[in-house]
Amino acid sequence: MSVREIVTLGDPVLRAPARPVEAGELAGAAVQGLIDDLIDTRRAAHGAGLAAPQVGEGLRVAVVEVEPGNPRYPYKPPVALTVLVNPQVEPAGEETWEVDEGCLSVPGLRGTVRRWVTVRVRYLDRHGIPQDELRRGVTAGTFQHEADHLDGVLFLDRVSDPGSLATAEQWERRRRAGFEERVREMVARTGS
Ligand code: ZN
Repeated sequence: MSVREIVTLGDPVLRAPARPVEAGELAGAAVQGLIDDLIDTRRAAHGAGLAAPQVGEGLRVAVVEVEPGNPRYPYKPPVALTVLVNPQVEPAGEETWEVDEGCLSVPGLRGTVRRWVTVRVRYLDRHGIPQDELRRGVTAGTFQHEADHLDGVLFLDRVSDPGSLATAEQWERRRRAGFEERVREMVARTGS
C-alpha cells in the first residue's frame, strides 16, 4: 500500500479508455495492490474519488469515498468507501442539475457541468461480487465523474460554458456560497 503520484492534465493516460479487469485478474496482487493504492492516494489528496488512470494505470477500477468534513469538498455529504471494478453508470430518470466540479488531475480549476440526478451503478466490488445500486444527488455526480475517467473523459469536456471555469481561489471567493446553497437543497431532497 502506498500513496502514488497523481497524473495531471496532458498525460495521455487520462485520455485513453481504460481496459476492463479480467475475471482471473481481480484477486491477484497487482489489482488488489492497485485498489489499496487508490484508497491511500485518495485519502492523502482529499479527493471525493480517484480512478486508476489518475495514477497511470489504464484499468477500469475507481474508488469513491467522502469522509465527513472533507477539506477539499466540505459541502459534499459523506460517502462510505466504494471500490468500483468494471463499473457501468447509466441515468435512472431524466432529471439533471448543474454541478461545480474539480479534479485532482486538473489542479486549481473548477467548472460547471451538467450531471444526472439519479444513476444506476453496476460494478464488481473488490471481491468480485456484483453490485447494483442507485446513487442520487451530489453523490451521483461523483460516480459519474469517476466513471468518465475510465472512458478518458475529464470534467473539462463536459463544461458547456467555458465562462464557468474558475481558479479554485476565484471559485472560493465568488461562487462557493451560491453552489453550497444548491448542494444543501439537493441533499435535503435526495439525502445524498
Ligand atoms: Zn477527476
